[in-house]
Amino acid sequence: MNSAQADSDRPVVAISSCLLGENVRYDGRHKQDACIAQYFSDRVDWKPICPEVGAGLDVPRPAVRLVGDKDRPRALGVEDASLDVTDTLVEYAREMFPELQGVNGYIFKCRSPSCGLTDTPLFSVDGHDNGFGSGIYARGIIAALPDLPVIDEQQLLDAQSRDLFMQQVLSCWQRQKAGVS
Ligand code: SF4
Repeated sequence: MNSAQADSDRPVVAISSCLLGENVRYDGRHKQDACIAQYFSDRVDWKPICPEVGAGLDVPRPAVRLVGDKDRPRALGVEDASLDVTDTLVEYAREMFPELQGVNGYIFKCRSPSCGLTDTPLFSVDGHDNGFGSGIYARGIIAALPDLPVIDEQQLLDAQSRDLFMQQVLSCWQRQKAGVS
């Protein structure tokens, strides 16, 4: 836990930073979600993270997509499949594990090859639809921190799911304050 998290009197929730309006997407734009800000901003402190930018990729940058097997996809360039940022994102997820020990939830951007939880379009090597998978970074975080409450902005549209997520975040925070892991 870093000092900001230790001093916080509210839960800390990590979030894909494009959802908060940061211009970090491959096209230099954002995906600000007003509903997230409206519901959560008085309840939590944010820890915005863009794994692609955090891992050193530029803004703007070539778009990537998930390619290959659902259980072991790679993040390859849409225009140039020789561009492979998989290992970069895997390594960045590893770097983030210690920092994320102290957060109480994570809101991911859906359908992203880095941040998507379950619904990121997957393609075969020859470019055909191959179902859906998890983004490379999100997959690493979830595997390392299986008890961390996670959700994406699409799931947050459902009021019950949103309220349940908030309860899980509060519960995680209270356990953390009580020193129970
Ligand atoms: S990598 Fe994640 S945070 Fe960054 S722009 Fe893509 S979806 Fe948003």
